[in-house]
Formats: sequence, structure tokens, C-alpha cells
Amino acid sequence: MEKLDVLIIGGGITGAGILLDATARGLRAAVIEMQDFAAGTSNRSTKLVHGGLRYLKQFEVGLVAEVGKERAIVYENGPHITTPVWMLLPIIEGGTYGRLATSFGIYVYDKLAGVKRSERRQMLSVQEALAKEPLLRREGLKGAGYYVEYRTDDARLTLEILKAAVERGAKALNYAKATKLLYRDGRVVGASVEDVLTGDTFDVYAEKVVNATGPWVDELREMDGSKQGKTLHHTKGVHIVVDGKRFPLRNSVYFDVPDGRMIFAIPREGKTYIGTTDTNYHGDLKNPRMTQEDRDYLIACVNTMFPSVQLTPADIESSWAGVRPLIHEEGKDPSEISRKDEVFVSDSGLITIAGGKLTGYRKMAEKVVSMITADLAARRGGSFAPCSTDHIPYSGGDFGGSEKMPAFVEARVERGMALGLTEGEARRLATRYGTNVDVVYALIEAGRDEAASAGLSLEVYGALQYALAHEMAMTPSDFMIRRTGALYFDIDWVRRWQGPVVRYMAQALGWTEREMERHAADLARYIHEATTVEGDSGALPEMDQGAYVGT
Ligand SMILES: Cc1cc2nc3c(=O)[nH]c(=O)nc-3n(C[C@H](O)[C@H](O)[C@H](O)COP(=O)(O)OP(=O)(O)OC[C@H]3O[C@@H](n4cnc5c(N)ncnc54)[C@H](O)[C@@H]3O)c2cc1C
Repeated sequence: MEKLDVLIIGGGITGAGILLDATARGLRAAVIEMQDFAAGTSNRSTKLVHGGLRYLKQFEVGLVAEVGKERAIVYENGPHITTPVWMLLPIIEGGTYGRLATSFGIYVYDKLAGVKRSERRQMLSVQEALAKEPLLRREGLKGAGYYVEYRTDDARLTLEILKAAVERGAKALNYAKATKLLYRDGRVVGASVEDVLTGDTFDVYAEKVVNATGPWVDELREMDGSKQGKTLHHTKGVHIVVDGKRFPLRNSVYFDVPDGRMIFAIPREGKTYIGTTDTNYHGDLKNPRMTQEDRDYLIACVNTMFPSVQLTPADIESSWAGVRPLIHEEGKDPSEISRKDEVFVSDSGLITIAGGKLTGYRKMAEKVVSMITADLAARRGGSFAPCSTDHIPYSGGDFGGSEKMPAFVEARVERGMALGLTEGEARRLATRYGTNVDVVYALIEAGRDEAASAGLSLEVYGALQYALAHEMAMTPSDFMIRRTGALYFDIDWVRRWQGPVVRYMAQALGWTEREMERHAADLARYIHEATTVEGDSGALPEMDQGAYVGT
């Protein structure tokens, strides 16, 4: 690799955003990611690009204003990955928000966040709230706020941003771990990198090195000998997924739970997901797990607010857990710690960006890249283009404006059906890949016979070929978790296709029998972990009803 202007360590949303911004300003930039892209926190969030209504409670007015505006930009640049959804905020006796506070809070939120007229808040009476959501608990209900949030696919958002950067000349490598930082005259000038899949190592040199490793930022600062002052505070958040038939919500709901926190229940693709918990975390950063306590807490929260539902552990089809990389604040509970981001520059010049949100990734990137261009311009002379990422569509987002997406999708659904896909398959592909669906369709057209002989449906074949050729999927888990989201939202699909997918990838990537077995076993382990609680080697155990219900 030639000498870079910027080497970014960490391929989550933060690193992806920096890569695109830097490349768009004319810098030679690369990102290295030790796992798969977005395999850290950036595929384990609540998957909302949101205006942060909850931050009003903490009077973080500036944060609300900024992220509120950002979500409109994220939507416009990639309407295939982000969808506006109406959110119900039930007002309950003794809850977090009373009627006045809710009305005022959402009003302020609409104003601060610059919310579109068609998406401005409504206040609902008890009857109206129940008409919108008949499953709500009637007892203690005093009405509801009704406002719009934006639901996304966090892993695909990260991927589409990375792809947009690569289309402009950036380099992005997954399974490439920074094992050592390289220095000259006390300045950080690059990193030794290990190819995690082969064990090969190589060095990369750059004018600037950015530490965008999310929950791992302190590990890199330690490597740099600069971990002092503020440090990270890790908290874990868990989500569970149940079938939409078991918990048939009509709207997304953001609701009070008995311990004074608030959580989301969000319908998506025929499922409903519920989360999140927020507890201090000291375990394995790569592989946080749902404990029995996390699971029982979320089930009890649902059963308290939606008493006719009566979820049990057997209803949980899948789950995920993520680690929040928050900046430590002395004496604060996990839910009270600010989600603000901060940049630290060490004596060696290592630039660390810590904290933050999915939603604010673009502004975080702008801050870091502006620091870099200012410094490079001062040293080299000349100037760099200003930040332009507010107008750069993500890969697959070239509709010519979000309003053109629905007609595009309908046309591509028809085309997909003409190719032999079912309507549902064609719709899934068109909405997942946006304007890149034409590439997926071309792969399907060219590979019809190969798909049949590999025992893959046309949909699976097209998605898999695209993931291999255009999205650097290196393992079956990359495909099943982060390229398709299926491990969380369609686990039966994963079980149905895991065998043919592993075999096809083995042949396409030239794996030995042993490598194929290892990747198959890894995928089986991920399926097991998503469907069980930590420490459990069998199916989901019975829940401890006593501790959480109605407290
Ligand atoms: C439960 C939960 C719910 C959330 N919900 C929302 C939400 O709804 N909306 C929202 O806006 N935000 C939400 N967030 C916050 C958001 O998900 C995070 O702020 C964001 O994903 C962090 O991204 P990141 O790129 O900084 O970190 P990560 O995504 O973790 O990326 C860092 C990457 O660095 C890599 N790495 C580490 N060390 C090395 C190394 N030595 N070499 C190479 N690579 C390395 C890791 O493998 C990792 O992939 C939520 C977070 C959690 C945990």
C-alpha cells in the first residue's frame, strides 16, 4: 500500500464516516477493521437514526438539535437503508413524561430537530392511543405522544458508506487488525497490521492515524501510551426478537418500564424487536451475550405495558447484545451518561474519537477530518475541499431524491418477478440494495444455472454473489449477520440456507475442508448464541417470573 494521508483503525460507523469524508476531500485514506465491517457496536444498536428525544430529559439541547438535523441528511442520502416510522409514546400515571411534558418535549424536539411538517408530533387521547395500539395497557394510560423516528439497518448503513468511499478511491480492509503502532521521532506514522484470516502481517504508513475503534479506543490509546484523563465506560444493551404474530404491534412504541427507564418495541419485517437494557459491562468486548436476567427483564417490560401479550422465553426467536462506548462520568448510572462524542489527540499525534451515536457519525467525521486537513494544509501549504458529505449519496442511494425511491422499487419488483423471483423476494432485494439492485439482478441473470446446481434460490444466490463480489463478505456469518440481517430478523431463513451458503462460499473462496468446517461451526455458534442465554448450552431455559414482573 502506498503511503496514505490517513489510516483509520476501526471499520464501524465512525471509521466509515471518516473514510468517506476524508476521501471526498481528496485525501488518500484507508480503513482497517479487525473483524468484519460493523461487527463491533455498529450492528448491535437499536437501529434508529433518531433525533434523540430522550436527550431532552437530560437537557442536552444542542445534541438534540444536531442529531435531529443529521437524521434528515442520513435519510436523504440513503432512503433504501432508513425508513420513517411513527412512534407512540404512551403517557402513563407516574411515568417519565406527563401529558404536558410530552407535548412540550415533542414540540421542542420537532423545532430543534427541524422535523418536516408531515412528520410533526400529534397528541393522542386515551381512545386515540388505544385505537393506534390496542395492545397497550389501559390501566393508568393518560394518552400518548405520536411522532416520527427513523429506523435503519446499522450494519448496512456502515457498509453503504464504506462502499461510497471505496467507489471514490478509498481502501477498506476487513479482518485486518492493527497489532502495533509505528513511530518516527515520537510521532505515530502507521500501524503493523495482521491479516486475521491468514496470519500474514504487513505495515501501513500514513501522515495521520485515527483511532475509531469504538469500545476498543482505550486499548489503542494504551498501545500509544496515552491512556490518561478521560476513559471509556462500557455498558451493555440487549435486544430480543419475537415473531410479529406473537407481538403484533401496529406502531413502534417507546415506553416506560417499571424501573424508571424507557425502552423501544419496534415492528420490522414481520418481527418485533424489543430493547434495550443498559447495564455496566466488563466482559468480552467482541462477544457480549444476553444473560437470563437481561432476557427476563425485557420480557417483563413487555408483559407489563402490553399485558395481553404474555411473552415467554419460548417466544424469543433471536437476540443481540452490544457494548456502548461511552465516556466515563463519575457517579452516573449507565442510562444517565451522556452519549456525546469527544476527540483526544495524543502527544504522538494519534487522533482518537470516542463516544457518540450512529446518528451523529457524519458530524463526528467532519470534526476529525477538518482537524486533519487544517494540519496538513498548514504543513504542506494549499487547502482542501470543505466537508461535502451532506450531499453524497451512499452506495445504492442514487435515486435522484428520496421521493423517487417508491417508483424505483415498484419498477424493480416487477423486473425481479420477470427474472423468476417471487414478489416478496424481489421487494426485499430492491429495498435492501436500492439502486445497486440492478447489479444483483445482473448476477442472477448470469448465474441461473450455477444457482440451481448449488441448491440456492435465485434470491439467496443474487445476495450471496453480490456480498462476495461487492461487499467483501469473507465468512458465512458476514453474510447471514451483517450483509442480510437474517440472523436477527429471519432466523428460519438462516437455518434453511446455512448449508448451501457455506458450501458455495467454500468453493468460491477456495477453502480447505477444515476451513469450511470451521466457518460452518462459527455460524452454528452464532445461531446458538442468538437463540440462547449466556452460559446455556441447550435451548432457551424457563424464565424466573418472580423478580421482574410488575415491579
Ligand atoms: C444497545 C445499543 C443501542 C444503540 N442504539 C442506537 C440507536 O438506536 N441510534 C444511534 O444513533 N446509536 C445507537 N447506539 C450507539 C451506536 O451504535 C454506537 O455509537 C456506534 O455504533 C459506535 O460505532 P463505532 O464505529 O464508534 O464503534 P464500532 O462499531 O464498535 O466500531 C469499532 C470497530 O473497531 C474495530 N477494532 C477494534 N480494535 C481494532 C484494531 N486493533 N484493529 C482494527 N480494528 C479494530 C472493532 O472490531 C470494531 O468493529 C447504540 C449502542 C448500543 C450498544
